[in-house]
Amino acid sequence: MLGLTVIGGGLAGSEAAYQAACRGVDVTIHEMRPAKLTPAHKSGLLGELVCSNSLRSDLADTAHGLLKAELTMANSLIMEAARATAIPAGSALAVNRDEFAAYITKKLKDHPRIEIVTGEVTQLPAPPTVIATGPLTSDALAAALGKVTGESSLYFYDAIAPIIDADTIDYNIAYYSSRYGKGGDDYLNCPMDETAYNLFYDALTEADSVVARDFEDIKVFEGCMPVEVMALRGRDTLRFGPLRPVGLPHPATGAMMHAVVQLRAENAQRSAFNMVGFQTRLRQPQQQRVFRLIPGLQGAEFLRYGSIHRNTFINSPLYLDRSLRLKLPQVDGSVYVAGQLTGVEGYLESTAMGLLAGIFAALDIFGIPRIEPPADTACGALLAYITTPAKGAGFQPSNINFGLLPPLGKNIRDKSLKKQAIVTRALQSWSGFVAAANR
Ligand SMILES: Cc1cc2nc3c(=O)[nH]c(=O)nc-3n(C[C@H](O)[C@H](O)[C@H](O)COP(=O)(O)OP(=O)(O)OC[C@H]3O[C@@H](n4cnc5c(N)ncnc54)[C@H](O)[C@@H]3O)c2cc1C
Repeated sequence: MLGLTVIGGGLAGSEAAYQAACRGVDVTIHEMRPAKLTPAHKSGLLGELVCSNSLRSDLADTAHGLLKAELTMANSLIMEAARATAIPAGSALAVNRDEFAAYITKKLKDHPRIEIVTGEVTQLPAPPTVIATGPLTSDALAAALGKVTGESSLYFYDAIAPIIDADTIDYNIAYYSSRYGKGGDDYLNCPMDETAYNLFYDALTEADSVVARDFEDIKVFEGCMPVEVMALRGRDTLRFGPLRPVGLPHPATGAMMHAVVQLRAENAQRSAFNMVGFQTRLRQPQQQRVFRLIPGLQGAEFLRYGSIHRNTFINSPLYLDRSLRLKLPQVDGSVYVAGQLTGVEGYLESTAMGLLAGIFAALDIFGIPRIEPPADTACGALLAYITTPAKGAGFQPSNINFGLLPPLGKNIRDKSLKKQAIVTRALQSWSGFVAAANR
């Protein structure tokens, strides 16, 4: 029987390897860390999260909730690790990032059908192969991939948010509360009156003009927009976005603040906090100066500064078939692409494309006829999105959202009932796919 090579032990590669191995395939994972790190990864652990420790909403009637439910039904390793290492985060699913990656690493290391090899892969290995090297694919492999696809990989830029040492936050000013009380005391809030907000806003937009020149040609993904770029859209844009004060009244006075900066715990001990929505490309001294203007953060020490990184993805509608295989005459055999490299955006979206690649590869190896996830499921909708030629502006990465799923075919006016109906339909379709994939 043929073995499967998986390049990249991130979220998608770990999931692909696990799915294939659980179906009886011998898998070798090639991961370049810790011998060679990417600009964002810090460890040699598999499944390391590079930025936020949140896997987004855990509410059943949201698109991210649906994706979680589908992954769980399909025995996803990443979801199993997330549940095992979850920390309180209101209605979101957030994890202790070190425990999360350690869990995934142990599970893969202990699996009798999985071998892990450390080292950078610079050429496409013999098929069957899953390429899951992510948005920070090493230059050599990106060049090799570019050669095969006949065009250089597309890229844009992602920004990550700073992390603050909890001991340096002023708790006389910052207060615990979740928006509208949903989720207890999971967020730490830094309240701003109008004067404090204006002072912060002016410093932020002024600081941005210093770096804007260097980044003129950079394409930034809307879902990960740097806070200073968003601020340039107008003085109040942040107050209606990540700094919106609604549902977070001041505990002492009950008054609604002019703006509120939210901090989310990085771990259960609350020893470090992520600045929600504060992805940034500002230089480090500017981050210190500007973010310390936020009430409660005047003495903040940064455990990690925000930064901006390249994101690589291929033109999937042109190059991938519905089984995530490269459909190019010059590629012999089955080369699957998984994760963010396919043009999905987000931790669990990347995981979903890893899960499908692992299943497809295993079925192909055992000569079992192809199956396709229905388009009315979250995973199927993502697959359809990345493999259908884009209209208009060209192919751009996407998160999961209900807009990707086909309409219901009946008119339900109540928004909440409509979402529930979409979710029910999806889970019914998905259970059929999972049953077929587990044959
Ligand atoms: C800076 C940054 C911040 C992000 N922040 C978020 C966020 O907050 N929330 C969110 O949902 N999504 C975020 N994303 C988007 C994305 O969901 C994650 O990057 C996600 O980890 C992608 O999963 P993946 O498995 O495709 O890639 P990764 O998880 O990055 O895994 C790829 C793996 O391949 C390895 N590798 C690369 N090249 C080679 C090679 N040549 N040989 C061997 N191994 C190689 C890497 O070391 C890495 O371990 C962010 C992306 C970036 C770049």
